[in-house]
Amino acid sequence: MNFQLQFFGATEQVTGSLYVIRAGNHTIMLECGLIQGGRKAEKRNRDPFPVPIDEIDAVVLSHAHIDHSGRVPLLVRRGYEGPIYAQNATRALCKIMLPDSGYIHEKDAQWENKKRAKRGAKKNTSSSRTEKSAKDELAEIEPLYTKADAEACLTQFESAPYEEDVEIVPGLTLRFHDAGHILGSAIVELEYHEGGESRTLVFSGDLGYRDAPVMEAPKRLRHANAVLMESTYGDRLHRPFAETIEELTDVFNVARAAKGNVLIPAFTVGRTQDLLYLMAEHYEEWGLRHWHIFLDSPMAIEATNAYSRYRHLYGAKLFGPESNLPALDNFHETRSTEESMAINQIHSGAIIIAGSGMCNGGRIHHHLRNNIWRPECHLLIVGYQAHGTLGRRLVDGVEEIRLWGENYTVRATVHTIGGLSAHADQTDLLDWYGAFENTPPLYLVHGEERAQQALEKKLKARFDAPVSIAAYQQTIEI
Ligand SMILES: [Zn+2]
Repeated sequence: MNFQLQFFGATEQVTGSLYVIRAGNHTIMLECGLIQGGRKAEKRNRDPFPVPIDEIDAVVLSHAHIDHSGRVPLLVRRGYEGPIYAQNATRALCKIMLPDSGYIHEKDAQWENKKRAKRGAKKNTSSSRTEKSAKDELAEIEPLYTKADAEACLTQFESAPYEEDVEIVPGLTLRFHDAGHILGSAIVELEYHEGGESRTLVFSGDLGYRDAPVMEAPKRLRHANAVLMESTYGDRLHRPFAETIEELTDVFNVARAAKGNVLIPAFTVGRTQDLLYLMAEHYEEWGLRHWHIFLDSPMAIEATNAYSRYRHLYGAKLFGPESNLPALDNFHETRSTEESMAINQIHSGAIIIAGSGMCNGGRIHHHLRNNIWRPECHLLIVGYQAHGTLGRRLVDGVEEIRLWGENYTVRATVHTIGGLSAHADQTDLLDWYGAFENTPPLYLVHGEERAQQALEKKLKARFDAPVSIAAYQQTIEI
């Protein structure tokens, strides 16, 4: 039987998820994620795709996060005309996130071209390098893809609910199961039939954390012939959730006494909705009726609406008439720039949730400019901050930050709350794999080396599992 998978992304790293599956004469791309993490790595997004585009019969996505879906508009721009399979809510979130990603690529290209034009003006007076390389470095670049490209690819999405069989190419059945990571996130099960035989591949996608406030725990499967499992937190154990709630209670109490504002840089999908849910749940405990809460991000507002529309997919009731939580009375969604700018006038009593999550851009910059130098203000970091981001520098305790060419001394208190992760920890990962009854061959993806090695060791010790760390371009028979 010809059923193979080749690894092309998210091997020994976290982003750029991409796998190519051959089932009989057909080729399927599983995930089409953007490579993230610094200029040099991100340049690789422009490389040709690992298989000729006219050979691809179907694309399957596990969830909407950009490191899993963010190269789909590029694939379509380069000529892919086939179907893109995603869970219903994933399709809804991609409709919000991919055009935004296109817009960011347009802005990035504009910024880079401006820089190159300036450099070019200088180079005309003093030229030192060889002409060719100098020319390459100064030539105008195109955006990776545009907002219009992203909008165009959405028509090729085919959505499927959880737990339903869809034959995506002859003999190959796709089934999505709830991965509990973000809205619509799926474990991807692919079952291939050929000549009276069948083999099953399971890809975990990103798995959720068992105590996550909004999402359900990831579905456990019992059988597979090969498993790909994420390993982001393969070397870590999350602290008990009750401790995280206590920490947050302390932060809000201290902030209230200080009479300043609280800024929360938030990731649009997942973390923001978790936070809003927890705010409703702990409304009294956190003294939130003394604050005005602003969700200052049009995209996060859209994503929150999608969570409300698809609330049947998870256990918690978020907002709306069916909500079993107290409404956030003093909650304000600020879509327009004018509404956002009006927040600048508030010096005390505002909790401002704004993107981007790692402070790399977005409206949070404006709020940092107005608040970070004030000792009565608080900055609450609730998500992972990658190296090289402003968020990371703030977590590491920089004394000064630079925004729009001006320096601001950091006098606000910075709090880091680590327990709100949307990813499974080591215990969750071990338990999830442990549910398979046949101890299938396991390949670790989506993790940094240290996390993968730690997890590999544990899996071997606990299950005697045939586990390995997936290598770039490695091919496996399923
Ligand atoms: Zn994810």
